[in-house]
Amino acid sequence: MKISNFNVYLTGLIHKKSFKKQFIFAKSELKDNGLKDPLNEEIFKKASGLIHRYNDRVVLTVTNKCFAYCRFCFRKNNWQEFDGFDLEATLSYLKANKQIREILISGGDPFTLADRGLEKIIATLRGLETIEIIRIGTRVLTSNPKRISIDTVKMIKRYTPIWIAAHINHPDEITKEFELASGLLIDNGIPIVSQTVLLKGINDDHRVLKELFCRLVKLRIKPYYLFGCDQAKGNEHFRVPIQKALDIMSKLRGKISGLCMPVYAFDLPNGGGKVVIESQNILERKKNVYRIKNFEGGEFEYRDV
Ligand SMILES: *Cc1c(COP(=O)(O)O)cnc(C)c1O
Ligand code: SF4
Repeated sequence: MKISNFNVYLTGLIHKKSFKKQFIFAKSELKDNGLKDPLNEEIFKKASGLIHRYNDRVVLTVTNKCFAYCRFCFRKNNWQEFDGFDLEATLSYLKANKQIREILISGGDPFTLADRGLEKIIATLRGLETIEIIRIGTRVLTSNPKRISIDTVKMIKRYTPIWIAAHINHPDEITKEFELASGLLIDNGIPIVSQTVLLKGINDDHRVLKELFCRLVKLRIKPYYLFGCDQAKGNEHFRVPIQKALDIMSKLRGKISGLCMPVYAFDLPNGGGKVVIESQNILERKKNVYRIKNFEGGEFEYRDV
């Protein structure tokens, strides 16, 4: 075997191993002092399963079952303590709070429900005039793509607009089956965005993320969020420092199109909510004149209005 071939082979192996680490127990999980409910979702709970944190949108967790059981799951306390969801109470709440335009169906993974169960939820929500957008947060494309049958797609299509937010962290998670299932959804007018968690030793490398985001865009999936790993119990060994994340984002910005770029965000503890963090491009401001750094590090003067 030529050395160069050997390296390619080796890189492949490391990739495979690194993406599997998402699901493998590590001893260090036992010693860290992460939080049980890092987003403090409990205080924003309005009914069983219903979380209202931001003005115009809510999350409804419809199951504690998942296809993946990622070790770094920020809702891993739900795995054991989920008390179900209350569709009637959700409906009343949405009727009383007409500013809510969007509902994110999450879990666990909503696709662990059978189509009939999922359709009942979707149809009920669609019955409300105030709900414009339904979003389904799921791991199904990476972890059980064959779950997306023609019938599933036809069902979702009946309640358009429904967006899919697909959780994916590594390019090796894009399989042939992933491509078929996502293609089927998109061909039927169901748009997909991606959500990626930045994970130490798995994808905290701009080359890995470049491959991931570019391949997603080729499949017509828009990279949406790159999340910092939440401070849930047992997550410490996965967490990447903010500065490193910003450096990765800057490197990506210079290499790939805006279409391929997600935004980097993380949740503040104590219910502070999501914050988008970007590295500072404004170097100086004198009245309406700004000195701005571009993606190559060059400095430019910009005269504002
Ligand atoms: C992330 C999140 C949302 C959705 O936020 P977007 O920025 O619109 O994706 C809604 N509710 C809660 C509680 C969330 O954590
Ligand atoms: S896919 Fe999402 S809900 Fe399921 S275990 Fe992973 S982080 Fe948790």
